[in-house]
Amino acid sequence: MSQKIGILGGTFNPIHYGHLAAAEEVRDRLKLDRVLFIPSFQPPHKRENNVPAAVHRMEMVRLATAGNQSFDPSDIEIKRGGRSYTIDTIEALRGSYPGADLYFITGLDSFLEIQTWNRWERLLTLCTFVVLSRPGSRFADLLKIDFMQAAQKQVMKLDHGELIHADFRAGAFELYLELIPLYDISSTDIRTRVKEGRSIKYLLPEAVETYIIKHKLYA
Ligand code: ATP
Ligand code: MG
Repeated sequence: MSQKIGILGGTFNPIHYGHLAAAEEVRDRLKLDRVLFIPSFQPPHKRENNVPAAVHRMEMVRLATAGNQSFDPSDIEIKRGGRSYTIDTIEALRGSYPGADLYFITGLDSFLEIQTWNRWERLLTLCTFVVLSRPGSRFADLLKIDFMQAAQKQVMKLDHGELIHADFRAGAFELYLELIPLYDISSTDIRTRVKEGRSIKYLLPEAVETYIIKHKLYA
């Protein structure tokens, strides 16, 4: 059987339990052999001017994934430099893992922007997208994307909790829609909390919290 590899890309500014719990849920459901956590070097879609150096975000991903044998941090986008386009990463991973099935994991909020991603149509043919529920978004929001309109019945069932998984095909695209336990955690909220001197305990691994304090990130 071919290897099954999950890929979670993000700014990871910082990585938190929302990322980790969601990735573990997908690994378990899809029986993935491993999940790669790939911090972007320069996120094409984010305009924040306070994104800490990639080395910090990478180190926090390393600390956070150390306790799971199936989770691997990857510095492929940081090493490549420049704007981090997922298509370039997927094409490189196809070279590194010939014959593997690649599953690109995103939250609903990110996937809703898919048509703005570089070469998105090609990207959708190269890997299976796994789109996860996330507080603040509904699966029905996907119906705004023209190629998702045939998913109407499935998205309604997911939003009503009548389904937890749906497999959707549109032409050469294959997507999995996954209703997962909701984790109302975001990096934005964690950064705000640090700035305001509020607690971030239990939102992210302790080692990451310690790293943030030690390096005075987000203060
Ligand atoms: P920010 O608030 O800075 O955007 P974030 O918490 O959204 O940070 P990202 O690094 O932007 O984290 O997210 C990387 C990927 O993980 C995205 O596809 C995002 O949708 C997904 N993701 C992040 N947090 C969650 C969560 N709590 N539940 C489900 N998916 C999540
Ligand atoms: Mg985000």
